[in-house]
Amino acid sequence: MSAIADNLQAVTARIACAAELAGRSPDTVRLLAVSKTWPLSCIYEAADAGQGCFGENYVQEGVDKIAASAGHKLEWHFIGPLQSNKTRPVAEHFDWVHSINRLKVAERLSAQRPAYLPPLNVCVQVNVSGEASKSGCQPEEATALCRAVASLPGLRLRGLMAIPEPVDDEAAQRTPFRRLRAIYDDIRAGGLPLDTLSMGMSHDLEAAIAEGATIVRVGTAIFGERNYA
Ligand SMILES: *Cc1c(COP(=O)(O)O)cnc(C)c1O
Repeated sequence: MSAIADNLQAVTARIACAAELAGRSPDTVRLLAVSKTWPLSCIYEAADAGQGCFGENYVQEGVDKIAASAGHKLEWHFIGPLQSNKTRPVAEHFDWVHSINRLKVAERLSAQRPAYLPPLNVCVQVNVSGEASKSGCQPEEATALCRAVASLPGLRLRGLMAIPEPVDDEAAQRTPFRRLRAIYDDIRAGGLPLDTLSMGMSHDLEAAIAEGATIVRVGTAIFGERNYA
């Protein structure tokens, strides 16, 4: 087996173990392989090992990979910060966007989503750690933003996403995930049919699954340390 196939197997085992501890079925948690900075050869290695969905953070890099891999039937998720002047290529090429943080970006994605494609699956990103530097709407804005996004015809609102501040201790990791889960439960109780909690990365996927993650976004534990040079 290749290193990437080995790593995928190890991550899948971590997910299964965390799900079992939480009393959940492992197939309630999807693994999104975060392939930013990695070449298509690595993505194909993962795809050959059965991985079907990939996450990208940079618009141009993602669009280039999607175009070059057309025919491989991969599913592509945009998970990075999205400026409103870069929405068109995302609306035209990606299957999902996890990082909706304001209505203007959502409105543009909806208007620019081609009619020959199904609605773009989206999550609203919420800042549950409270740092000024991280993107995402404020927790108290999430419900209103979700309601507005749910009404846009080119989009299908699926749920919420968060990227908490990295911490080592699993109990501390769980706190922001629990906050996101509480917001999710509130919005569902208000009548919006959300089915996705996108939370958890290489270092904290166990904590996220314990708090209800349905998609974990994992890069380093599959592909190795990224080199941005
Ligand atoms: C890079 C990235 C990930 C993956 O992080 P790892 O620590 O490499 O698993 C997940 N989500 C987002 C939004 C990212 O930018």
